[in-house]
Amino acid sequence: MILSELRSIVQAVNAAKDLQAALNIIVHRVAEVMGTEVCTVYLQDPETKRLIFMANRGLNPDLIGKISLGANEGLVGLVARREEPLNLDNAESHPNFLFLPGIGEEHYHSFLGAPIIHQRGVLGVLVVQQKDSRRFNEDEEAFLVTMSAQLAGVIAHARVTGSITADAGAPAKTAVFKGIAGAPGVAIGQAVVVVPAAELSSVPRRQIDDPEAEVERFKSALCSVRDDVRDLSSKLQGQLSSEELALFDVYLRILDDGHWVSEVINKIRLGEWAQGALSQVVLAHVNAFETMEDEYFRDRATDIKDLGRRVLGYLQADTEVESAEYPDNTILCGDELTASVLGEVPREKLVGLVSVKGSSNSHVAILARAMGIPTVMGASDLPYTQIDDANLIVDGYSGSVYYNPSPDVFEHFRVICEEDQQLNRGLESLRDLPCETLDGHRMPLWVNTGLMADVARSLDRGAEGVGLYRTEIPFLLRERFPSEEEQRQIYREQLLAFAPLPVTMRTLDIGGDKALPYFPIEEENPFLGWRGIRVTLDHPEIFLVQVRAMLKASEGLNNLRIMLPMISNVEEVDEALRLARRAYDELVEDGWDISLPPIGVMVEVPAAVSQARQLARRVDFLSVGSNDLTQYLLAVDRNNTRVADLYHAYHPAVLSSLYTVVEAAHAEGKPVGICGELAGDPGAALLLMAMGFDMLSMNDNSLLRVKAVIRSAKIADSQALLEKAMEAETSDQVRTILKAAMVDAGVERLLQPVS
Ligand code: PEP
Ligand code: MG
Repeated sequence: MILSELRSIVQAVNAAKDLQAALNIIVHRVAEVMGTEVCTVYLQDPETKRLIFMANRGLNPDLIGKISLGANEGLVGLVARREEPLNLDNAESHPNFLFLPGIGEEHYHSFLGAPIIHQRGVLGVLVVQQKDSRRFNEDEEAFLVTMSAQLAGVIAHARVTGSITADAGAPAKTAVFKGIAGAPGVAIGQAVVVVPAAELSSVPRRQIDDPEAEVERFKSALCSVRDDVRDLSSKLQGQLSSEELALFDVYLRILDDGHWVSEVINKIRLGEWAQGALSQVVLAHVNAFETMEDEYFRDRATDIKDLGRRVLGYLQADTEVESAEYPDNTILCGDELTASVLGEVPREKLVGLVSVKGSSNSHVAILARAMGIPTVMGASDLPYTQIDDANLIVDGYSGSVYYNPSPDVFEHFRVICEEDQQLNRGLESLRDLPCETLDGHRMPLWVNTGLMADVARSLDRGAEGVGLYRTEIPFLLRERFPSEEEQRQIYREQLLAFAPLPVTMRTLDIGGDKALPYFPIEEENPFLGWRGIRVTLDHPEIFLVQVRAMLKASEGLNNLRIMLPMISNVEEVDEALRLARRAYDELVEDGWDISLPPIGVMVEVPAAVSQARQLARRVDFLSVGSNDLTQYLLAVDRNNTRVADLYHAYHPAVLSSLYTVVEAAHAEGKPVGICGELAGDPGAALLLMAMGFDMLSMNDNSLLRVKAVIRSAKIADSQALLEKAMEAETSDQVRTILKAAMVDAGVERLLQPVS
């Protein structure tokens, strides 16, 4: 059995309209391809754990949905319990065989069952049976196992959402979707779906009042695309062969084909807006073409998708102005929210965020925490195209999204919101008190910034400096590289706001999950690729302009510190120092009255931990970027939902690396701080203080919580706590130790509240 058959079954299943249709496709196609007389899918009921006879070919169809097996019953129960395939030439002679009256199995002797497993949990069992008494061969067994592994994700998604694709139907009346806690807090509001430009699969459904005007909009977009195709074709005359030019004729024929065009128009007349109607029709056609055997038709799928995107582009350009209106309690939802979408909504209207992809360490989540916007990331089952305008509750503590919440759920979260506000008001009283332990140990708390809006709040909450100013954020919010003078003004504003307190500006850290819209970097492994200092050393003009802008901005203030991201060897530091020195010398020569600022290195990759002493020797300070350090130490992509539960900042390997860096920096007589998210975790802050970090830098929303914990602790006790934590063998043990310490100190409410 070959790959193309497997692929074609998966595609057909993906195009099914609901779970039952998908299961029916599975049993028919698998039986056909494997040439077996019987194929069955049993699905496990999540509550009773019974395996229900859900779809079948070859047995008694009247029993579908009506009979089931207990987890320990029959061969099917055995496959589910052992979580491995079972291949028998004579099923009735197996001790676990259970005769189900009326189902009609008695004629079939050979049995092959494979468990359907998703995220370590058994969803059901896929079985094929035959009359002849023979063992299925290895190829057949491998095919069935592969098939069930491929289908598990689709089935799991369909069970949660009731649909196979994001486009197949709105969720039930009320629903809860699980994701990852991205930024703490609760938001109650209205969904606004953000659509990446010209992406057919993420167009939300929307109803319109004036279908005829909408039909006109669609026709005019179609005309524009037709003109574009003709233009392109005549421009390329002479450059392409006539065969290649024929592609444009195919395009024009597709555009003129009345069939799909009238399908779109019909949908619009039923009240769907043009973008929605277009995307649904085009995607259905693409799906139909993609499942065809013939390569010619598969290529047509690409053509129609391309044309669909072009038409969508015109329709979107047309509605940009309208979509700029946001409701007062906007909850932004999208497939993959990025840092740049945050800038599009007026801050006072934005109350929550939900992203289908990503995890709590994605940059959009970090920004959301800094801005105090409750966020859920990685809500992978959320049918986001279907929920535009819906009432939502975002529970950023547990990572859940409530769609159309019932009055009880609404009331529950309203109370939590109120408690949160009370807690925050209580913390306000700490604003002007020093951050020191009960036994007098001072722990400087600094803040991470990126937006001008952070500044006032940070100062208000008693920040003693800026430990990380993410300079890429103003870059992300623009449409081109800001000029040296524009940058000077942005940096000057930050430096002025905090002066005389120090401001640590990090040189541009793009790459990874931070792509500038105007400087795209396409890579297989972006987190192991062209990131941070690697980009700016390859583009000294970008680096020099930025450092010059920082230095100019510091004139007369002298509170600038410069920090280098993603350093993985000493040569990078030497080269960056040489360039910074050059920028400084040139400016002094030009008459600027500036001093050379302290320059530091971020410790974010394991190599920098090992070489922390060599690095510290060259610079004025170190600062640990624990977000990246955790991802690289544990080999867990900080952005990947699938491995999000392996990302443990409390991992013993992370803690011992942090300790190593502190000791190395101090051995060289250099200060060391930490500016990853861990610094803002009230429990972890006690450990970091005990390790000897000279400052903790965090988002401003964490400042008062961390201060409250430190003011309730004694440095001597924290050192004992550290000793205990360093002996732990798992992240869970560390978490338990910290929780107990918080409970003892009576401050456990600060550790993410609410039951
Ligand atoms: C870090 O990696 O810990 C860090 C502070 O940098 P960023 O999160 O911006 O990558
Ligand atoms: Mg980093």
